[in-house]
Amino acid sequence: MTREGGCLCGAVRFKAEGEPINVRICHCRNCQKAMGSPFFARALFNQSDLTVEGGTARYASSEVLDRVFCKNCGTRLFGWRRNGTVAGVALAAFDDRNAFAPTEHIWVAEKMHWVRLEDGLPQHAGAAPG
Ligand SMILES: [Zn+2]
Repeated sequence: MTREGGCLCGAVRFKAEGEPINVRICHCRNCQKAMGSPFFARALFNQSDLTVEGGTARYASSEVLDRVFCKNCGTRLFGWRRNGTVAGVALAAFDDRNAFAPTEHIWVAEKMHWVRLEDGLPQHAGAAPG
């Protein structure tokens, strides 16, 4: 199965092949700042399963992760591992925004206090085990 998505202005389009490795909501401070949002809900894919067209720019938000966004409209689309392995794709950027549902919360120790997690999903203080 191939799922497609893109940024707000439409300049950047992407395709994701197959099923994601995992679907998680990250509450870490780095994601909060990078996304300008309380958390980052993303589906993790192998970079080899992703095709991206259009003008993107990137910012290294840590030694291991680039934030990839549309050069034109600024929509944050990917958290892109700099070692060439995997990338987190923003769930909201898929054409079908309900294509994937998260199964876990990670880095809950850094969660914004007013965010209430009442969905019954497992919560991890830091990275998920395994
Ligand atoms: Zn755009």
